[in-house]
Amino acid sequence: MGQGLSCRVQDEHGLFTAVQFGDIEHVKSVLSKDPLVVHTKSVYDRHSALHIAAANGQIEIVTMLLEDGSVNPDLLNRHKQTPLMLAAMHGKINCVKKLIEARANILMFDSLNGRTCLHYAAYYGHSECLETILSAARTSHVAASWGFSRFVNIRDGKGATPLHLAARQRRPRCVHMLLDSGALVCASTGGYGFAGSTPLHLAARGGSMDCIRELLAWGADRLQKDASGRIPYLVALKHKNDGCAALLNPSAAEPLVWPSPLKFISELNQDAKALLEQALMEANREREKTILKGTCYSVPSPSRSDTSAADDDMSEVSETELCCICFDQVCTIEVQDCGHQMCAQCTLALCCHNKPNPTTASLTAPVCPFCRSNIAQLVVAKVKVNAADQDLDLYPSPKLPKLRKPRNLSEGSSSFKSLSGVPSFGRIVGRGSGRISADIDCIDKP
Ligand SMILES: [Zn+2]
Ligand SMILES: [Zn+2]
Repeated sequence: MGQGLSCRVQDEHGLFTAVQFGDIEHVKSVLSKDPLVVHTKSVYDRHSALHIAAANGQIEIVTMLLEDGSVNPDLLNRHKQTPLMLAAMHGKINCVKKLIEARANILMFDSLNGRTCLHYAAYYGHSECLETILSAARTSHVAASWGFSRFVNIRDGKGATPLHLAARQRRPRCVHMLLDSGALVCASTGGYGFAGSTPLHLAARGGSMDCIRELLAWGADRLQKDASGRIPYLVALKHKNDGCAALLNPSAAEPLVWPSPLKFISELNQDAKALLEQALMEANREREKTILKGTCYSVPSPSRSDTSAADDDMSEVSETELCCICFDQVCTIEVQDCGHQMCAQCTLALCCHNKPNPTTASLTAPVCPFCRSNIAQLVVAKVKVNAADQDLDLYPSPKLPKLRKPRNLSEGSSSFKSLSGVPSFGRIVGRGSGRISADIDCIDKP
């Protein structure tokens, strides 16, 4: 990193070396002889012992220094970096937590690029550190004085938000977390109203398809131009990121977009949200198969690691819980308060729009397709045992297919026909039963 976290020169007490390697006994003995040594700094970079301990993850020494009470948690080095910034840079999560506990200020800016600890965590892709800093920002004075969403979208000296940096550095986990916390997907490094790069431009340059998928699913605009008048597609081409270019090509099919502005989605129950997010990303991957056909990226195998739990749950349900809209997927989402159930895919088809338009997008919540009451909240449907006798009278369905095995969400393309867009949802309505309200497509027309 070139941050010089060891102390090659002028360590006359051996303090800095002991701190770096976690030799707490030596540190204690040096400090007991002369407590003022704790305030010395390394010669060139002006690191304090706390900087060195935090950057090297020496949690015992960090704890000892902070509990002593004489050490300020916000000491600055030569580049006005705090120990918290260095801990976030190196992904030392325990030190990040300890420093925040000791009331380290999360709203400090270094003198290199005007970055905060949140920028460092995003840039280096340490999602745990990012999460800890974000949750500190929700509860600390920062939320009160600055506002949480202003903190999430905080700019460095060149106008980059943490989301820009995470997208540029290929950190999809951090990109997701920031978007989920209210990062502006179309923020421009030029500032509001001025041309600059968006996170999508920087992801196109960095070449991470996962970052691009996340950004597109959150409504990133493929047509926004940077200061040189380029759309992200051209940036990807220039840097020879062909897979990214295929996704960013304005003539490629629009991906489904997570309807984040909708109140009921932002306040969504976490489990239901995870199910819907998973269904949305899987559906977009299905769409990508056509887009990427013939390129070397044409076998996108969905990541199974975080989907297995949901799949396991679903394998236990009976055919009586098939979604009454598509007759294809298992009901996993329940509408409150009416209690009607449908599958995650059909829920998305109800709620998602293909292209966000902030000026005309309807901000009214979608309605339940069965009873037309406003959807106040979505929750994960409870798995019912022996449900055949009881739960069908809510919406009697004599033509339920018999004994169709539930499919998991990442299986073959036929599972996703209901997601090829809202228009096809309309066709399903026609084919389905008369119970579904006819004017569904007025809900979220772009
Ligand atoms: Zn369905
Ligand atoms: Zn209903």
